[in-house]
Amino acid sequence: MKTAVIGYPYIGENRQWKRILENYWKGQLEKSSLEEQLKSLRLQYLQHQKSLGLDLLTVGDFTYYDRMLDLAVMFGMIPKRYETEEASLETYYAMARGSKNVVASEMTKWFNTNYHYIVPEYEGKPLQLTSNLFAKLVRETVETIGEVPRVTIIGPYTFQRLTKGISEAQRPAFLLQLIHVYGQLIHELEQLGVSTIQLEEPAFTSELTEDEIALAEQLYVQLTEIVQSDIFITTYFEGIPSLERILQFPVAGFGLDFVAGEKENIAALRHIDFPKDKTLAIGLVNGRDIWASNLAERTILIETIQKLTGAKELVLQTSCSLQHVPVTVSNETKLQPTLKNALAFADEKIKELILLKQYVFNHETPVKQAIAMNLDALERLQNHPERQKVTIQRAVQQLKQSDFERQAPYGQRLIAQKEALQLPDYPTTTIGSFPQSEAVRQNRLKWRKGEITNEQYEQFNQEETKRWIAIQEEIGLDVFVHGEFERTDMVEYFGEKLEGFAFTEKAWVVSYGSRCVKPPIIYGDVEWTQPMTVKETVYAQSLTNKRLKGMLTGPVTILNWSFVRNDLSRSDVAYQIAIALQQEVKALEAAGISIIQIDEPALKEGLPLRKSAQKAYVQSGIKAFKLTAATVKNETQIHTHMCYCEFNDFIEEIEALDADVISIETSRSHGELIEALKVNPYKLGIGLGVYDIHSPRVPTQQEIETILTESREVIAKDQFWINPDCGLKTRREEETIASLKQMVKAASILKQQVKA
Ligand code: GLN
Ligand code: ZN
Repeated sequence: MKTAVIGYPYIGENRQWKRILENYWKGQLEKSSLEEQLKSLRLQYLQHQKSLGLDLLTVGDFTYYDRMLDLAVMFGMIPKRYETEEASLETYYAMARGSKNVVASEMTKWFNTNYHYIVPEYEGKPLQLTSNLFAKLVRETVETIGEVPRVTIIGPYTFQRLTKGISEAQRPAFLLQLIHVYGQLIHELEQLGVSTIQLEEPAFTSELTEDEIALAEQLYVQLTEIVQSDIFITTYFEGIPSLERILQFPVAGFGLDFVAGEKENIAALRHIDFPKDKTLAIGLVNGRDIWASNLAERTILIETIQKLTGAKELVLQTSCSLQHVPVTVSNETKLQPTLKNALAFADEKIKELILLKQYVFNHETPVKQAIAMNLDALERLQNHPERQKVTIQRAVQQLKQSDFERQAPYGQRLIAQKEALQLPDYPTTTIGSFPQSEAVRQNRLKWRKGEITNEQYEQFNQEETKRWIAIQEEIGLDVFVHGEFERTDMVEYFGEKLEGFAFTEKAWVVSYGSRCVKPPIIYGDVEWTQPMTVKETVYAQSLTNKRLKGMLTGPVTILNWSFVRNDLSRSDVAYQIAIALQQEVKALEAAGISIIQIDEPALKEGLPLRKSAQKAYVQSGIKAFKLTAATVKNETQIHTHMCYCEFNDFIEEIEALDADVISIETSRSHGELIEALKVNPYKLGIGLGVYDIHSPRVPTQQEIETILTESREVIAKDQFWINPDCGLKTRREEETIASLKQMVKAASILKQQVKA
């Protein structure tokens, strides 16, 4: 029995990896230094895993930006727009990030995680192995550590499934070439002594059709014919619906997820004969969350699996790559012990694996003690007063249907709001944030370091709000915002003010490329104790006669962008957050704010992989949102905002939120969205984003007019709003003002046309 990880976090405990990459991009680092520094980093990771006592060393989990992109470039899949045919590092980074003249490749969510990979594009050029990153990794490991590692590679089935641009006519030829390049790649590794290859096939956790399974089988039959090494198919993020079929593939072993996929995989194994001559890698320790495993319970699972499968050999591993968790809890100096002791990041998860293995072989005192300590830590957290807030738990349990509903249906509310708010037709607004300039960031930094007082900090932000109120007057917008200068992150801001949240110092995880996020931890019952946004909002409203929108982050987004306690269902946690936010909505309303926006950019991205689980997720998400807004008067207008996704197949769900108005990112799929709205007219207020805020480019008035004209075909006058795609905090002031002026000009033309 051996211990292993599917992958280790490559960013490093201090985000060293990110810094190296970014220094190189800024031109502060030569290519050779980049290579040197990255090499030393990844060898350090391997040494470290070895020193922790992990049996198997795995390479291939490291990347220069993204592992899907690594493979695409190795296979020569470089789209024509990048001009140079050869796979240089510049081309690689141009594909990843765009360059002066070329846009970057598309990025999308890696299964149900918050990580985004680069989507490989196939343009018909024959695949060819142009380089072999893995060979470099193996060579340096042998040289430095003196050990031949196993290599982990994203598998061919998943790779082809996530590649875009392969027509059905092209697919057979593409697949032949694909197997050929995988074969060649593995051959080169075999020449260096490699004998074990782990092919990651998370796509096997989807509900595959018979044809898709047959295709996958064919790929593995062909591949195993041309390579000598032991191939392991490793799956993660779910169980495998077609386990029985996949276990027949002619490979040396399988890795299954016994965390997210525990129920499904165990149930399947009860009635399938696991092939006795094959290795089973048990994904035992959760690679996705930050909580310590219940080790006693995990030991029972090992026994169950041993009995069920009688597998020749077992590997104990993490349920998926540890890329999705931070490096080590030991760097956290400020967490209270009760919480800290119940956490496990990558290194602690490796220690758990080792302990579990020791337990299987001996039940000696130190091992038993360690298991008992683990249980004790979990119990202490469970009994933490922050988890025993009876009133909050009871409030969730006692929720009834009517708690989720506004007083009157949309039609009546619309009339009441028209009367009360007196907005012009085709109102213009923004999404909430204005540029977080250098000065804004410096001010916050000084405050965090204690160099300025709270009053000074707030004073500065107020000035900035005042300045932007004047700018909004000058631009001529209809509904104003205060600008969100007091917020860095839309989740962190609320987490810091609500009870039940904890913040780490170094618990970073990659979101995409070198971009890292440090999600808060929801460890206790979520409670609202004081207004969080009222002061800033009321101040801003006092400066103008225009209506000013209050700005909140919604319950589902707070949930999806946090690490969440695992002793409650996610929907119960969402309801707790919703109840807390409802207090804030009430407080804003009581303070005279009559338009309140509750952002839910992460609602769609949280969709579970399985169709069968999607409905329950969407339903509870919708309920949580509605609960947040339910108590307000008919006259109070509730807005929401969504972005980061394509929404044309999500309109019904959005409508079900019953928000009076939604502003929605459209630039990625404007045409499709218009088409979808033609078929299913949207019943409430909606503002289709009229320009892309991700680019510094100022849109022309004409472009915006075109979008408005198209939108008018599908959105009625009473429901028509005009806004950019998303918040403007990453943009510069000049661009922002210039773009919004174009938007308002285009809007006024529309307003005149309609009057005439
Ligand atoms: N109100 C937020 C902002 O304007 C919304 C951000 C988002 O949708 N991601 O920044
Ligand atoms: Zn947005």
